[in-house]
Amino acid sequence: MAQPGTRGLSLFIVPKFLINPDGSLGRRNDVRPVSLEHKIGIHASPTCVMAFGEDEGAIGYLVGEENCGIEYMFVMMNNARLGVGLQGLAIAERAYQQAVGFAKERVQGRPVQGGNSGAAIINHPDVRRMLLSMKSQIEAMRGLCYEVAADLDRANRLEDDAERAAAQSMLDLMIPVVKAWCTDTGLAITSTNIQVHGGMGFMEETGAGQYYRDARITTIYEGTNGVQAMDLLGRKVVRDGGETARRFLNDVRATVSKLDPQVPAQASLAKHLGAGVAALEAAITWLVKTFPADPGSASAGAAALLEMMGLVGGGWMLARGGLEASRQLANGSGEAAFLEGKLTTAHYFAETHLSRAPALLDPIIGGGALVMALDEAQF
Ligand SMILES: Cc1cc2nc3c(=O)[nH]c(=O)nc-3n(C[C@H](O)[C@H](O)[C@H](O)COP(=O)(O)OP(=O)(O)OC[C@H]3O[C@@H](n4cnc5c(N)ncnc54)[C@H](O)[C@@H]3O)c2cc1C
Repeated sequence: MAQPGTRGLSLFIVPKFLINPDGSLGRRNDVRPVSLEHKIGIHASPTCVMAFGEDEGAIGYLVGEENCGIEYMFVMMNNARLGVGLQGLAIAERAYQQAVGFAKERVQGRPVQGGNSGAAIINHPDVRRMLLSMKSQIEAMRGLCYEVAADLDRANRLEDDAERAAAQSMLDLMIPVVKAWCTDTGLAITSTNIQVHGGMGFMEETGAGQYYRDARITTIYEGTNGVQAMDLLGRKVVRDGGETARRFLNDVRATVSKLDPQVPAQASLAKHLGAGVAALEAAITWLVKTFPADPGSASAGAAALLEMMGLVGGGWMLARGGLEASRQLANGSGEAAFLEGKLTTAHYFAETHLSRAPALLDPIIGGGALVMALDEAQF
């Protein structure tokens, strides 16, 4: 007898055609698409409603053991969630490239810092702000995706059992962060691309709207970002009493200790990473203590926790990149303009994005109980 809910699910392969005993292709199985979805984006990837066994009954082949379907699904889950996080990053990168191209071509207004009217809009500080905001977040997201992809490899391939287990727990912790933070941020970046285009961004002919619509699904499928945040809080942070999350914080602290206060970008990263880590530590302590007695209030802070983890994780990646850029600049290897660009971009992320991480502590500690305070009729 199967347990109720998802724990009773089994996994089946249901082929389009059945196979005859001699191995040749047999009759069509009773499984059909019954309608195509009319989606707001990803039109090149059709989605349909499937009907199984409407007529004579569909034949499915059990994969593995009965009632283990959810367990098997989790085998592909980490890969799939990393893949969707990467999708958020990839669409954001394309949107950024389009925004930069447009900003260099579009002529409008007189730059506030002086110069000719008739200058391209990339000369306006507010347009620069949008572009650097996009660029810096994309570099943080990319670093986090690579780090978590490396954790996936380490969890599968390291020879030492304890090291493999440590990589697996870090992977499990960070997967919901990559999935949700990179798609929330990616979606916001595609919106900024439309803004950089001004009125033309609202016109279909530029194609900017397509990136926005395509990115919209990434925060929903493969588990909505709200569900990712709950996974992070409940299964990844609270369940082990915050142990893995604190290990992550210690890894970040180890990088902070290497940052040079004499290098402005590194000093800024150290300051804001330090504040972010302290706020995250306070959030984790409060959530681990509060969740068992008051899961409602704690869970309302899950999305803010995930955002903090994304900001601090992204800042950590840029700090590591900044250390390497400074090292190469000091020894004269690499391309100076590229390396200086890396440092300025990381510095900007620290000042304008990472600096917001501590502000997410209040929504967690103060906001949660309020979310649950209104009764249904008050909404
Ligand atoms: C284009 C497209 C392609 C898809 N492809 C696939 C596919 O290939 N394979 C597949 O299996 N599925 C696929 N899906 C399904 C997709 O994964 C689900 O739509 C998605 O996980 C959300 O589930 P739902 O639609 O039932 O929304 P619901 O679960 O009803 O969610 C509605 C809202 O409630 C929130 N919510 C629900 N439960 C909780 C909770 N416990 N705690 C906090 N908040 C909660 C959600 O975050 C969301 O904001 C696809 C969907 C789309 C639109």
